Amino acid sequence: MTVEFQVQGVRVSELARRYGTPLFVYDGTALRDRFHGLRDRLHPAMEIFYSLKANPNISICALLHSFGARAEVSSLVELTTALRAGVPPQQVIFLGPGKSRQELAACLDTGIYAVVCESIPEVALVDELARERGVKAPVALRVNPRFAVKRSGLAMGGRPRQFGIDEEELFGQTDLVKRFPDVDLMGVQVYMGTRILHEAVIVENTTRILDLAERLSDALNLELRMVDVGGGLGVSYFDGESDLDAQVLTDGLNPVIEDFTARHPGTRLIMELGRYLTAEAGTYVMGVRYTKTSMGERFAVADGGTHHHMAAVGIGSFVKRNFPMAVLNRLDEPATEEWNVTGPLCTPGDTIGKKVPLPPVRPGDLIGVHRSGAYGPTASPGLFLSHGYPAEVLVHEGRCHLVRERDRPDDLLKRQRLYDPTAQDNTTHER
Ligand SMILES: *Cc1c(COP(=O)(O)O)cnc(C)c1O
Repeated sequence: MTVEFQVQGVRVSELARRYGTPLFVYDGTALRDRFHGLRDRLHPAMEIFYSLKANPNISICALLHSFGARAEVSSLVELTTALRAGVPPQQVIFLGPGKSRQELAACLDTGIYAVVCESIPEVALVDELARERGVKAPVALRVNPRFAVKRSGLAMGGRPRQFGIDEEELFGQTDLVKRFPDVDLMGVQVYMGTRILHEAVIVENTTRILDLAERLSDALNLELRMVDVGGGLGVSYFDGESDLDAQVLTDGLNPVIEDFTARHPGTRLIMELGRYLTAEAGTYVMGVRYTKTSMGERFAVADGGTHHHMAAVGIGSFVKRNFPMAVLNRLDEPATEEWNVTGPLCTPGDTIGKKVPLPPVRPGDLIGVHRSGAYGPTASPGLFLSHGYPAEVLVHEGRCHLVRERDRPDDLLKRQRLYDPTAQDNTTHER
């Protein structure tokens, strides 16, 4: 009997039959276990905010919220998504280096918990918008710290960056609270980088961020009602990497948090997590269309590819490393061959796996890329060759829910207009 990949008892061939391929499948139980694996160990004073950037699907956001996650958003649509998913405004923060006037206005009008400002001119704009509305705007300052994170996949602090305000600069802004009377400066945020796989590095970052927040609050005379310590918790994708151990991590973090809360009992503590919460729960399923050989190498040409899963091309590495992959409809067959797994795009870059050990592949097989629940289609060139967004299915409590319809040709074409050579200037454009 062949062994098939299943999600909560639903076989992958059944999912492919019902929803077609390519397809993202999310396992609600895996999401829950992931969230609670950390939540149940982490100091209760530390709140977990879900970074929608990792996977902005409204159902994923709603499910994580039902487990207890709050939301960290970085665009108008992410904000709308979180609110529609049922996250109360007081559990939402908005950050990002280039927020528009419209986005900042929406932050104030919806009454979210904090706008994380990344520059002084942005604070000034929020101040102006708050004055127009006759409200006080809750603002946290994102700091670009002097120290850099070690051993992060992608560092975002400690260097010249578009993110945050340099630590040195901020310590000189002692009149900040007075200068912006309609801004309620209430907290500090620092995000050091992503894909950190060493527990000790996260503990050290957190310690330094809490210390920095205290020093800053003293220097600027700002009330520390919240500190957002970022996160950057990674998951392993490649050979030689290993996952964070939630027990080891929280054994290190909790005393640091306890120490801080003893001194600042009223301060809300926030950790923002994207990849860590969703990556493991997702599988990208592609159907094999053709198999062939070229100059001695085997190719499985699939209906999905890098336009849905750019991350699988290998993050920040020179050497091509593969995500964990398998022939999902024949899990029990030994991987005796090496296959290049490619997609429908007309570019050699559309290679989702290079020399992947797999069993003999046949057309009609379902190839899966595991750990694909974060930075999938939203972080990929989905419009390249006009293939559009794949379908997404959430399996939860044994039931399948289509949570994103596959783009159809009309979806992709409806925003375009065929010009009329006889018409006057088209003045009905949207801004
Ligand atoms: C991208 C990002 C996150 C989420 O990062 P993950 O590595 O997916 O957890 C959180 N905060 C900020 C500021 C980010 O830019």
